[in-house]
Amino acid sequence: MAKTTPTAAKNLLTTYDYINPKPDAELVRKSIVYKLIFILGIDPKDATPADWLNAAMFAARDLSTENFLSTRQIHEKFKKRTVYYLSMEFLMGRAFTNSLINQDLYGAFEQAFKELGLNLADISEQEADPALGNGGLGRLAACFLDSLATLRVPAVGYGIRYQYGMFKQEIVDGKQIEKPDLWLDNGMAWQFARPAKRFPVSFGGTLDTSHYPPRWKPAEQINAVAYDEIVPAFGGQIANPLRLWTAHTGDLFNLASFNEGDYFSSMEAQMKNETIANVLYPNDATAVGRELRLKQEYFLVSASVQDIIARHLCRYDSIHTLPEDVAIHLNDTHPVLAIPELMRILIDDYYLPFDQAWAMCQKIFSYTNHTLMSEALEKWSVDMMAQLLPRHLDIIYKINHHFIENVVRPQGYDDDFIRRVSIIEEGEQRQVRMAWLAVIASHKVNGVAKIHSDLMVSSLFADFAALFPERFTNVTNGVTPRRWIAVANPKLARFLDKHLGGSGWLTDLNQLNQLNKLVDNKDIQNEFANVKHAAKVRLAEYIQREMNITINPNALFDVQIKRIHAYKRQSMNVLHIVHRYNQILNNPNADWQPRVFILAGKAASSYNEAKQTIRLINDIAYFINHDERVRDLIKVVFIPNYSVSLAELIIPAADLSEQISLAGKEASGTSNMKFALNGALTIGTLDGANVEILQHVGAENIFIFGNTVEQVQTLYRNGYNPYDFIDNDPELAQVVNQIAQGAFSPDEPHRYHKLMHNRDEFQRYADFRSYVNAQAQVDKLYRQPEKWYRAALVNMANMGYFSSDRSIEDYCREIWRIEPVSEQELPRLA
Ligand SMILES: *Cc1c(COP(=O)(O)O)cnc(C)c1O
Repeated sequence: MAKTTPTAAKNLLTTYDYINPKPDAELVRKSIVYKLIFILGIDPKDATPADWLNAAMFAARDLSTENFLSTRQIHEKFKKRTVYYLSMEFLMGRAFTNSLINQDLYGAFEQAFKELGLNLADISEQEADPALGNGGLGRLAACFLDSLATLRVPAVGYGIRYQYGMFKQEIVDGKQIEKPDLWLDNGMAWQFARPAKRFPVSFGGTLDTSHYPPRWKPAEQINAVAYDEIVPAFGGQIANPLRLWTAHTGDLFNLASFNEGDYFSSMEAQMKNETIANVLYPNDATAVGRELRLKQEYFLVSASVQDIIARHLCRYDSIHTLPEDVAIHLNDTHPVLAIPELMRILIDDYYLPFDQAWAMCQKIFSYTNHTLMSEALEKWSVDMMAQLLPRHLDIIYKINHHFIENVVRPQGYDDDFIRRVSIIEEGEQRQVRMAWLAVIASHKVNGVAKIHSDLMVSSLFADFAALFPERFTNVTNGVTPRRWIAVANPKLARFLDKHLGGSGWLTDLNQLNQLNKLVDNKDIQNEFANVKHAAKVRLAEYIQREMNITINPNALFDVQIKRIHAYKRQSMNVLHIVHRYNQILNNPNADWQPRVFILAGKAASSYNEAKQTIRLINDIAYFINHDERVRDLIKVVFIPNYSVSLAELIIPAADLSEQISLAGKEASGTSNMKFALNGALTIGTLDGANVEILQHVGAENIFIFGNTVEQVQTLYRNGYNPYDFIDNDPELAQVVNQIAQGAFSPDEPHRYHKLMHNRDEFQRYADFRSYVNAQAQVDKLYRQPEKWYRAALVNMANMGYFSSDRSIEDYCREIWRIEPVSEQELPRLA
């Protein structure tokens, strides 16, 4: 790539002269007004809150842009080995407040808006929350980007800029209604358009194997165009890019018909294919749009791999140094086509021999597994891949052949083993097993919590663990304390600053353990109780305003917020709610602990059972909330449209965190970490990261219940029968019958019959009694505020391990072998 920077400008750039000192409120105010007038073309007299937000975001972006550009300079100057994080999902949340906090500009912006007669917090609420992800996997990617920047790790995130992200959820008559999420409608001040950064992505056509390397003659080509979002480090100075690809109208040509001069049929193909970056697919959805989903995955990786190589060749003059310069991380199997794509480019464009290209790939790629559930493991039909990506299928065959003949067979494994580890699954419909390809090509494969990584090696990847025992490792997930405490819960942040002697905990979360010596101090317990109460009042106000439901902030807030899925067992939560309702009606004068049950989450559009569960929660909420007899001893609230910003509002207000998945099914969970960090106590199974949270906070400070993985497996093995549990527990039988026979859906009595009387794949009924007993322990502790708040403080004090900074340090050391930018490499401020 030719560099045309004039010499004078070059000198300017290398001395970092353009790094300005931190602005004060006056400068910020002038900058905001300037942006409003000259960038947006709006007279301040006419500006709406949304206009002010956009102007302020431009002003804030200017300030991080300096860091963004100088970070790139540093990486080039010192030839920093870089990790490229490929993910189909990034659930970033709102950018504005986060950027102000990370750059220590919150005070200046707050003051500037005050001088303009406006309120920063209200203005911030105008920002759309880009939902470019479904749930935990996408939010993990976002927490990791925050930690990568803050730890000064040279890193680039790559994703898709879906025009429509996750749908907007409305609840109408108790049912989920899906509306388009128009997150781009008010403009996106935070992202830079990069019209010059474009790469062609090809599909279809034929493979001419009469040459070596074979020649792929694609039928279609579409251009991927970049948008860069700045990811600012906490503490300023560094900012990394999140590069999101989009496909624009006019970028696609049906090559064959265009060459023949058939303009209209080329336009037709364009219309069909411009949808490629349009929608995010709910990851639990079935067959719908599978071909488009495969195209999207290839679109992401092809553009990204081409960009990675271009960036490498800016720093080095040879492709051979790629593995020293580049680490590519695959966030689950969705971007695994990056492997054959890199092979294709190395072999077809750079004429590397297969063995040499393959050796490079194995140094470059690493892969995180996010699920052991077979229905969520990606497989693509060989037929579809042959149609869409013939060259890649050819390369996958070669990789498979090389693997079986050079790795597996020499070790003396039999045909049965070879059939199991083959990338190609034989059968009526031959399929490509993407997870197998990921494991075979990567030098490291990790699970996301200890128990998950152990199960991965003993079950899903057992054959591969026999072949490559050193390849498998664990990196327990974490969450960023910047977003999940400083942004989400400013009062808690002030509390921590005060008692930990400053804000050092924000970048060194283990400092929280100093709280351990304060947990018995009554004043500090009260102070924390007040922080919690304020967050509960704030949430109660939201629920009153948005849903017109009155809840009592003095009640225990019992919260389960996450994607709605049978394995996460929201319906077991419902069983407990109904059981509690029955108990109160049986014994109305007992000394009941008032509770508010708060649930939120989206169901994938095609996932009927999850949608029924949402409806059941809403039916029960309506019924119980209108029953005078339970007064305000139980309230049930399903808050619509779960999102990062809603999580930021709800989590600080939680007393109890529901983490009740069937043991062995939740790989890690990360909301469990956010809750405990905000001083909620967990009620949970021995699943995912709950197991490690238990180890860190101690058994007295967490409510663990339910069968272990071993017990769950024994039940499955013995032919699990839900009626063994229902028939032996009259109270459970009563709850099941009420729901199944229409006590909460009198207008349609059989609405929930199937939901209750299915094969109970996730063993709700087996864990019911143990769950109810644990809930009784919760009530008992909550009645003793000193003990409860002590336990909450102990939780916070021992959650330092679950910072995503620790996760990223583990990845850098164990997987990527990447060094952060050092103090000495940072530019000196003028
Ligand atoms: C943290 C988070 C998740 C993940 O929640 P789990 O309970 O761990 O599944 C999903 N969605 C959002 C918006 C989150 O913030």
